[in-house]
Amino acid sequence: MPRLRLLVIATSIAMAACSQSSNDNQSTPAPTASAPAASASTAQANPFFAASTLPFQAPPFDKIHEGDYQPAIEEGMRQHLAEIEKIADNPESPTFDNTFIPMEKSGALLDRAMLAFDTVTGANTSDALQKVQETEAPRLAAHRDAIYLNDKLFQRVEAIYNQRDTLKLDPESLRLVEVTYKDFVHNGAKLSADDKARLKDLNKEESTLSTQFTNKLLAATKAGALTVDDAAKLKGLPEGDLAAAAQAAKDRKLDGKWTLPLQNTTQQPALKDLDDRATREALFKASWDRAEHGGDNDTRATIERIAQIRAEQAKLLGYPTFAAWKLEDQMAKTPERAIDFMQNLVPAATARAGKEAADIQQVIDQQHGGFKLAAWDWQRYAEQVRKAKYDLDENQIKPYFELDNVLQNGVFYAANQLYGLTFKERHDIPVWQPDVRVFEVFDKDGTSMALFYCDYFKRDNKGGGAWMSNLVEQSTLLGTKPVVFNVANFTKPAPGQPALLSFDDVITMFHEFGHALHGMFADTKYPSLSGANTARDFVEFPSQFNEHWATNPKVFAHYAINYKTHEPMPQALVDKIKQARHFNSGYDMTELVAAALLDMGWHTLPADAPKKDADKFEMDVLTKDKINLSYVPPRYRSSYFQHIWGNGYAAGYYAYLWTQMLADDGFEWFKENGGMTRANGDRFRKMVLSRGNTEDLAEMYKAWRGKEPSVEPMLIDRGLKDAPEGNEK
Ligand SMILES: [Zn+2]
Repeated sequence: MPRLRLLVIATSIAMAACSQSSNDNQSTPAPTASAPAASASTAQANPFFAASTLPFQAPPFDKIHEGDYQPAIEEGMRQHLAEIEKIADNPESPTFDNTFIPMEKSGALLDRAMLAFDTVTGANTSDALQKVQETEAPRLAAHRDAIYLNDKLFQRVEAIYNQRDTLKLDPESLRLVEVTYKDFVHNGAKLSADDKARLKDLNKEESTLSTQFTNKLLAATKAGALTVDDAAKLKGLPEGDLAAAAQAAKDRKLDGKWTLPLQNTTQQPALKDLDDRATREALFKASWDRAEHGGDNDTRATIERIAQIRAEQAKLLGYPTFAAWKLEDQMAKTPERAIDFMQNLVPAATARAGKEAADIQQVIDQQHGGFKLAAWDWQRYAEQVRKAKYDLDENQIKPYFELDNVLQNGVFYAANQLYGLTFKERHDIPVWQPDVRVFEVFDKDGTSMALFYCDYFKRDNKGGGAWMSNLVEQSTLLGTKPVVFNVANFTKPAPGQPALLSFDDVITMFHEFGHALHGMFADTKYPSLSGANTARDFVEFPSQFNEHWATNPKVFAHYAINYKTHEPMPQALVDKIKQARHFNSGYDMTELVAAALLDMGWHTLPADAPKKDADKFEMDVLTKDKINLSYVPPRYRSSYFQHIWGNGYAAGYYAYLWTQMLADDGFEWFKENGGMTRANGDRFRKMVLSRGNTEDLAEMYKAWRGKEPSVEPMLIDRGLKDAPEGNEK
């Protein structure tokens, strides 16, 4: 299809990871993109208007000015639409070659501009760029509609789809026809004019309500902050947090008081420290009820209506429920499959949470607390259990995880051992900010195969978390090789100091590089099926899988070296890190599964279901799914579940858990077949990492794994179940 995926954006979401080495600053004399915004460039001077002449067609960030993006995007849309109309208006009868091939080739300028634009607005934005973003977002959405709802174009797509079995297409081309056709249908191309109008109305109402939900929740979360007038009530808070609470009160013109602002999750960080049980309860309830106080900020009526609208949209498009519609092109395929999978997690997760609760109750009793564990007590006493069981001092660990060492001797080393890749830093490729580093990636036979950029340090103008994306997508049709990047938010050290990572940072670095491998190994003809352009419940599989190599003994020993003494990490410390990773796993899994089941509960309602009362419905779902533990509430309550009502994760929150299953089950295959060997790496690359979305993802997985994914390895790896004898990891 025309690379509409660009307009959908966002490939991967993860934690926060990668940082940079102390000597990068000196060693990166590359030109920067943060040149002053030039006055609107002329078409001739706009560097996007011709393909880049740099190696791998890397964007010429040294020549791109902030003022170049908007004209390139605008002209890109105009050209793209003209190309699409030419295809749609072709008087010849539709063939694969006169329809799909030009569609895949269309939109080159828009692609170049948007890939670079998304990169800089994510990692290095400015007021001017944000303004362009706001102006262009609705235009890009309309551009997308203009293609999906182009009736003549769809008629050609459908005609080819209907003859697909007689056209002798190769498997990848056949897949392209099927994926593209379904995308059009999913977006309403098959509806009658009346139904199209109805769908547009529903889309509009949904998007209005969704924005309303986001705004209400923002206000509710702000208003929900807990304010106390006596510092004694906050006993236990570290000094810095107490000062921050005083400042937060001041900012609200509540001088002399203390305010604890709410975080977006049910549990609140301060609950870990607060000694006073009544304050803990008050803070927890402030969080739990934040959007349920009646009045303007109450979100319940909004979400009840959104759920109805979505069921109606699904019905219009011929699906029994919204989840059935949204999951059809996912690996899980049906809501039943996703729900079954989660229900299989419930007994182990809740049993483990029950054990953790018993440990906590014991601490409470030992301290003569005289009360029964409640949700607002969990964090505080769990922290005490953690300290007693496996106290880990971050400062003791960090000297073993110097960034450049982790990158080259950990992340790159694992990729070398598994896939034979080698890496060479390049200082001649322009970057968007001076901290960004560029590596050329060489294949096992020494051929140059990709560029890998990393932008690891936190900046005020960078979005939170960590992610991977492409600057150039691989395609043999277009003759392009992959240019991929990782972004993270590690603390930048003072000049001359080493960048030292936490172990979570190390894991994030491996995670994001797993996405990068998915992009770099891409070996497909069509760009829209290439690399990480896969379903949401698949895309986090290569990344979570790659995390496993961080704790592989051979890899770990190769990078966990003290930067001062050059000594390896002592075994006792290694063991502590391993054990601590399973701390609180019952709670963590239970709150996630509960939230994911709530998501599915709301999105498996049929269109004719009566409007639901949000609180009652939520309780019914949790009870029915046997996951209503009073001391482990869902990670998000329905009334503040931004992912599903505001952020496009509707009927998709399960994907985080699903891909964990794939990652752990996939790693099990390596364990069963000799572990970290080149042969195993090559097989995984050939059958999975290079294939993008060119095959049915469930079939692809099964062909590689030799069977359906099993949830057992996940239960063991995540500390929810003991490993069988002799199978210790
Ligand atoms: Zn990820």
